[in-house]
Amino acid sequence: MDFLHPSLPTPLQKLSDPIFEKAQVSVYVKREDLIHPVVSGNKWRKLKYNLLEAKATEQKAILTFGGAYSNHLYATAAAGNAMGFETIGVVRGVEFAENDTPTLRFCREQNMKLQFVSREEYKHRNSLSYLNKLVQKLEHPFLIPEGGTSELGLKGVAEMVTEAGEQLESPPDFFAVAAGTGGTAAGLLSAGANVLAFSALKGGEFLETDIQDLLIHSEQKGNLKLFTEYHFGGYAKWNTELTDFMDSFKDRFDIQLEQVYTAKMFYGLFDQIEKGYFEAGSTIVAVHTGGLQGLLK
Ligand SMILES: *Cc1c(COP(=O)(O)O)cnc(C)c1O
Repeated sequence: MDFLHPSLPTPLQKLSDPIFEKAQVSVYVKREDLIHPVVSGNKWRKLKYNLLEAKATEQKAILTFGGAYSNHLYATAAAGNAMGFETIGVVRGVEFAENDTPTLRFCREQNMKLQFVSREEYKHRNSLSYLNKLVQKLEHPFLIPEGGTSELGLKGVAEMVTEAGEQLESPPDFFAVAAGTGGTAAGLLSAGANVLAFSALKGGEFLETDIQDLLIHSEQKGNLKLFTEYHFGGYAKWNTELTDFMDSFKDRFDIQLEQVYTAKMFYGLFDQIEKGYFEAGSTIVAVHTGGLQGLLK
């Protein structure tokens, strides 16, 4: 497993569908799910400069945060291990100390040390005073915020915009992407792309400010349109309408989605195309952010 040997550029796959013809739009999928066999999609992009910085500054250990099913913890455990770092994962929910999930089991196999904290304590994960205390207690590891969502994370995501522009020979009108922390959406915006972000969680309206806050130091900014109504009941919740959509997507395009992020984004995007959101002639690049190890089995 070599984190530093990704398959780049990731393919850009054109989709055909009668609803796209009717709306006169072109839809491409940026196959970030194929970037690396273990470190999926946007997590690879967000970790790249974080881990290069940690190497360059000769860090011993990486500290990061996530839930018990977090694709980011999974990716950090694998990439960190491959690059010779110790990794420490702060996990939301003390109940998981006695109750491993497949993600946490994988993290342990990759030598990640897990620390379980209450949901209350986890809320402080981005507070400076909390982090200062934690970092001191743990002998100063290199800090990567939840989701890999930091300025270094955005820098890695921005490279996807350049890549897609070169593949299409001109920049697309829009990128569509699922949002959890909003870091991937922010990275695309930081490269000047116009972004449609689809919240994977209920009450995702807060993402609007979170994304703008992440962009505070970037000069080039595209426009953001945030959709919050395609959450299917909330984070990591879904119904048969969504799983039926995933199945038919797989049949028609031979692309596997997962139910937490990418299926919700594509469902929302198709719905908006049908509802006439896009002007005729628009080109849309929808990002397949990966996450297939979390696929419903
Ligand atoms: C983590 C993740 C996201 C959310 O990315 P953010 O940058 O946190 O918004 C989207 N899709 C997949 C598959 C993910 O694993």
